[in-house]
Formats: sequence, structure tokens, C-alpha cells
Amino acid sequence: MTSYADFYRQSINEPDAFWTEQAKLIDWQQPFTRVCNYDKPPFAHWFEGGTTNLCHNAVDRHLKDRADQAALIYVSTETGVEKTYSFTELHAEVQRMAASLQALGVTKGDRVLIYMPMIAEAAFAMLACARIGAIHCVVFGGFASGSLASRIEDATPKVIVSADAGSRGGKIVPYKPLLDEAIRLSSHKPEAVLLADRGLSPMQLVAGRDQLWSDLRAKHVNDKVPCEWMKSTDISYTIYTSGTTGKPKGVQRDTGGYAVALAASMKHIFDGRAGETYFSTSDIGWVVGHSYIIYGPLIAGMATLMYEGLPTRGLDKEPDGGIWWRLVEKYKVTAMFSAPTAVRVLKKQDPALLKKYDLSSLRALFLAGEPLDEPTARWISEGLQVPIIDNYWQTESGWPILTIANPVEKKASKFGSPGIPMYGYNVKLLHESTGEELTQPNEKGVVVLEGPTPPGFMQTVWKDDARFVNTYWKTVPGKMVYSTFDWGIRDKDGYYFILGRTDDVINVAGHRLGTREIEESISGHAGVAEVAVVGVADTLKGQVAMAFVVPKDASVLANSAEALKLEGEVMKRVDQDLGALARPSRVRFVSMLPKTRSGKLLRRAIQAVCEGRDAGDLTTMDDPSALQQIRDRVEAG
Ligand code: ATP
Ligand code: MG
Repeated sequence: MTSYADFYRQSINEPDAFWTEQAKLIDWQQPFTRVCNYDKPPFAHWFEGGTTNLCHNAVDRHLKDRADQAALIYVSTETGVEKTYSFTELHAEVQRMAASLQALGVTKGDRVLIYMPMIAEAAFAMLACARIGAIHCVVFGGFASGSLASRIEDATPKVIVSADAGSRGGKIVPYKPLLDEAIRLSSHKPEAVLLADRGLSPMQLVAGRDQLWSDLRAKHVNDKVPCEWMKSTDISYTIYTSGTTGKPKGVQRDTGGYAVALAASMKHIFDGRAGETYFSTSDIGWVVGHSYIIYGPLIAGMATLMYEGLPTRGLDKEPDGGIWWRLVEKYKVTAMFSAPTAVRVLKKQDPALLKKYDLSSLRALFLAGEPLDEPTARWISEGLQVPIIDNYWQTESGWPILTIANPVEKKASKFGSPGIPMYGYNVKLLHESTGEELTQPNEKGVVVLEGPTPPGFMQTVWKDDARFVNTYWKTVPGKMVYSTFDWGIRDKDGYYFILGRTDDVINVAGHRLGTREIEESISGHAGVAEVAVVGVADTLKGQVAMAFVVPKDASVLANSAEALKLEGEVMKRVDQDLGALARPSRVRFVSMLPKTRSGKLLRRAIQAVCEGRDAGDLTTMDDPSALQQIRDRVEAG
């Protein structure tokens, strides 16, 4: 067995040999002639000359050995629907969808915007696009008209696929009126809109434009649509970043490199084996949903569990904090992928729920999207008794940058660290102002990647090469490196710790501190459920830290004596862990924190409010009342 160190070294020093080997994990129609074309940095073109198809690799190629095996397991605790599609059935549904899209005029290279709740038809639509070479642009179903309109404008789709409504915690959210309004706002108009009718909310169809999926499906029920063989470098899809630090960026991805990257990650990182079941709790609107609800597990020949609903509500629509564990037992899930924010929700449930089900099929839980704080990691690790594997990546990367590749070589995880650089990623830490590479353990710097970036990584910003180069590759003077805009350290064993966004580094009296470090210290206090720390301008010290805490015990919010006591304890804790410089100037208590729709803390909005500035673009924000609470607290002094 190779050591991970050797495996990694080969990926960096002999990338052609390394990726040629990995490329065998997928089917190619035409073999590639060049592994990586990096003639024009920073643009990396993977597997030139090769032709393949994502849908073929995810669906068709499994028909030979596993036609009757489950491919898509759909569970909605919103509507009570639970349905399994075998590879044969998925193949048929995808072809019906592909034929319907073709009937609406979609051909290779056309954009299809998918604005859908978590329903099986959304998976059919994505795979159908891949099948016929259309570029899908999935927009998270929770976005309202304004955000949707700007994405329609940017993607200029020929067709939009949508549905009558979504549902969140039993509350119906009609999509159709939001979509109609978005199309009205956009200067680009789609030629057709294909609508799945779930019977949740009545729809007004626009004559000549709107079509019902049930009608087209019936018309094309027996259609056979062959896979379009795509160049490896052809675009498969575009997707937007979460918009945590500003205006979302349109990430563009290729076909062959992405397929290889996902197949390799399923094998070397997620230990996903054909015939088993994978359960990612994300949403198709996010990159995790693209890579690890739809394409990754299916490419690996696994069944993928697609879930609509809250983690705390059962199929009978009654409260059930054990629903996810119930599904793990029922479908013998072997790998599960979620986010720290979801685990924090579950942490508020009865811990006995974790013991109620037979979870012996589960080999690991993967978490990503945000820093995984130690108390949350410990809680879920003790409850599940399986490795909890943090993984750090970005919409831009498409698959993990830092984690542990246990299937290659078993390595211990360290609490607070997502792990070590994954094969193909030449990760470096650079001094923020000089751009000098930091080589000593525990030095703080910006996490960057040296090109060429590996297969699966973004090709460019959609329609805007200049923005790609200028945004990501030109932040360090004199060097062309990809900046992650995250700030971190590497310990003596090579494990990285992400200390926050580079925007979130605060400078107190000349000392650089990551807000994440302070948050980590505060979240260790037993009375703290969640915390956000931001740097706020201060005439004396340059900046000071300000903490917003969601207390475990809500009574703190209404009791100023208790609040004062907890504030004192929190400050003392930071003093002890990090020193008085890091001590927040105030600790304020709120019932919730402002987050993006993908569950990430919106520190920039909190900071703006603290500094009395305009909070900027808030279209990616989840619940506006959270920011209002911050405003009220700040104004109350
Ligand atoms: P935008 O780029 O639009 O501001 P975003 O960066 O939040 O939004 P995503 O691509 O969804 O958009 O998130 C990637 C970021 O999430 C990373 O750059 C990092 O800051 C954070 N992140 C993801 N996983 C982890 C992790 N395991 N530990 C710490 N931070 C993480
Ligand atoms: Mg980002």
C-alpha cells in the first residue's frame, strides 16, 4: 500500500502519470491526447482530445452490472413522498427529460436554468442537461426574484426548469410567482419554462411559454436520447458561490476533468463503493449538491439519497430529530455528508436519538462548508462513534482541498483542522503583505494554490476570464497564485487550520488575529450555542473584536444580570486562551445569527452594522430579522 505522502507527492511532481491513472476511473468515448495543457496560466485544460459524458458515467455505464439496483432514493418529509429509482428507471426518466428539453429547442451549449426544490425531477433535469450537452445553471430554490433575475440575466438560459412550489418545515413556498417576477425583471427572456406540478400551489401558465412536465413526459415516455459526446474541456455547468463575502461569482466547470476528479474523490476520500448508499444532506443549489448528491455518488455506482426537509421533522410530518438516523438505518447509508450548521441544529435534540437506530452501516460522516468547532465535532463524534471528517473546499474547487484521505492511508483527524492538502492541490501559505512563502509551523498566512489547479477545479468565471484572473490570481504581488481568501496556519504535522476569511482578520494594536480563533475559544464555553466575532473599527486600537453569542439558555436574552455574568465569563475565557488583546470589547446576546441561504455566517453584514455602514448586498441572506436583532443590540449600546 502506498503512503499518502507518496501518493500526494506523485500528484504534484508527476501530475501526468498520476491523473492518467485516475482518468481510468471513468469511461471515455475518445481517449485524451494531452493530460494537462497549462500553456496559458492560470487556465488549466485537462484531458484535451478526450471525449466523454457526465450522464453516461453517472447512469448509462452502470446499466450493465446494476440495472435494478437503487440509483436515486428520494425522501421528502415535506410531502411524505418516499420513492426509489433503479438505474434503469433513472435512465428512462432522464431520457424523457432530455427529450422534453430537446423538444423545447435545447441543443448542445445552450443554458438551462434549474430553479427547483429538492425533487427527483431536479436530478433528472441536471442529468438530462449533461446528457445532451446543455449547460445547467442550478439556482438555489430558496432565492427570491431579485437574486434569480440577476442569474437569469447572467446565464441567458434558453429554457428554465422549475416547479409550482417548495416547502420548508411544512410551509409552502410558491416558486412560480417568484419565477414569473424574476423573468419580468430580467432583460433576457427564456423561450420556454418547463414546470413540475407537485400539487402544492396552483399555477397560472403563460400561454406559448410554460409547459407542464407531466404533459411532455407523457409525450416522450418511450423516447431514447443518446449521450452527446462532449470534449473534456466543454462546459458542464455554472454555479454561483454563496455570496458570504460579496457579490456571488459565477463558477464555470468542465466535463472530463470534473468527472475524473469526482470519481477519484469518491474512491480516495469518501470511500464510496458501488452498490452502497450515499447520503448528502446538502441542496442541489450548492456545489456540494452538484458534486456529492448528484454526480459523485452516481459516477461511483452508488445509490444517492436525496432529501427534502428539515433534519427535525419526520415522514409523518411530526417532529422527529432522529429522521436522518432513521434513514441511515433504513437505507444502510455507508457515507454521509453534512454541514456543521446542520449538526448544531441536531445538537439541540435529545442525544438519545442517536442511540435509537442501528447505524452500523455508517463508516464516516463528512462535514464541510464552515469551520467545524470542537464542541460540535466532539458531540457528533461521540454520538455516532464513526470518524468525523471535516473537509475544506470552495464552490470554485468542486471537491475537497484539505481533508484526510483515509482510503489511501488511515490518518487521525485533529479537532479544529480539516486536514492536509489533497492530491493535486499544491497548497501554500503566504505572508499576507510580503507574499513570502511561510515554511515554519504555526505561522499565519493566506492559503493559496499554485497552478495548475487540479481536474474539477473551476475553468474560469462564466463569460469573464478577466474577472477570473484578476479576482483570484492577482492578489499577491509578483506571483501568480490562486488565493482562497482564507487565512490559516499549518502545524508541525502538516495539518492546516482555517482561521477565517482574509476579510475577517482583525488587527488589534498591530496584532493579527483571525476571528475564527476567537470564535473557537468562545464556543468552548458551555453556555454558548453559537457565536460570531467581527472586527470593528476603533480609534485607539485600530480594530477591536466584537462578539455576538446565541446562548444555549434563551433566558439569558431577557435577563441582564445573567447576560452580564455570561459576558464576563466569555471574556475571561478568551483572555485565558488567546490573551487580553483578543478579548472582545463587548459580548452581545442574540437569538440567532445572520446567515447565507447556504448556512454560512454573514460576518461582513454584522461588521457593517457594527460600524454603522450600509450592509451591502443582502440578497443571499436567509432571515433578515437576525440582522435586525444585531442592529437593535448595537443601537441599544
Ligand atoms: P463567496 O465566495 O461568494 O463570498 P463563500 O466563500 O461562502 O461565498 P462557498 O464557495 O460556498 O462560498 O464557501 C467556501 C468557503 O467556505 C471557503 O472559502 C471557507 O471560507 C469556508 N469553508 C468551507 N469549508 C470549510 C471548512 N471545512 N472549514 C473552514 N472553512 C470552510
Ligand atoms: Mg468564497
